[in-house]
Amino acid sequence: MPSTQFPRCSPSRRQWLAVTAFAIPGVAGVLTAADTKPAPVDPAQAEKFMRQALELARKGMENGDGGPFGCVIVKDGAVIGEGWNRVVSTNDPTAHGEVVAIRETCTKNKNFSLKGCELYTTGEPCPMCLAAIYWARIDRVYYGFSCKDAATIGFDDSFIYEQMNKPLAARTIPEVQVLGTESFELLKKYAAKPNRVKY
Ligand SMILES: [Zn+2]
Repeated sequence: MPSTQFPRCSPSRRQWLAVTAFAIPGVAGVLTAADTKPAPVDPAQAEKFMRQALELARKGMENGDGGPFGCVIVKDGAVIGEGWNRVVSTNDPTAHGEVVAIRETCTKNKNFSLKGCELYTTGEPCPMCLAAIYWARIDRVYYGFSCKDAATIGFDDSFIYEQMNKPLAARTIPEVQVLGTESFELLKKYAAKPNRVKY
């Protein structure tokens, strides 16, 4: 398992949380634990949906779209969206199975929240997909092979987890803050915008 330590928070993000905590009731807690517990796991259902994810992964892999990563999104016992890795065929480094499935499902349903949905993925999510899953408010994740398994054939994301725990300037890709005050002003304007859509 990769490190589950939380990444350091940049000063601007801390400032943002401080402002929005006052300006938008409840927004500071958007990425905390879900308010309701998902239904108990049904092993037969779980295996059925994971087989569908595996089939997508197999087809994508054989088609040359990318690695063996397939994904289905399920709501109320039915598949409402699917995706598979298309990094190679679309030249998109973010086209992981989970991201593709989340995008497709949200677009189809005209809703940026997937609360009430469960996600099946053939491989344990990488940090990018895990973040997308949290942002989409998915209730539960089922995975096939682990991050450790994926690392044995070169899909090693432990490096990214290590990077997230380093100070910004010490990362392999350094992050440099520029025009922080001006940018923060824009954030404050957004917080005060009466017709903004909360997400
Ligand atoms: Zn991923």
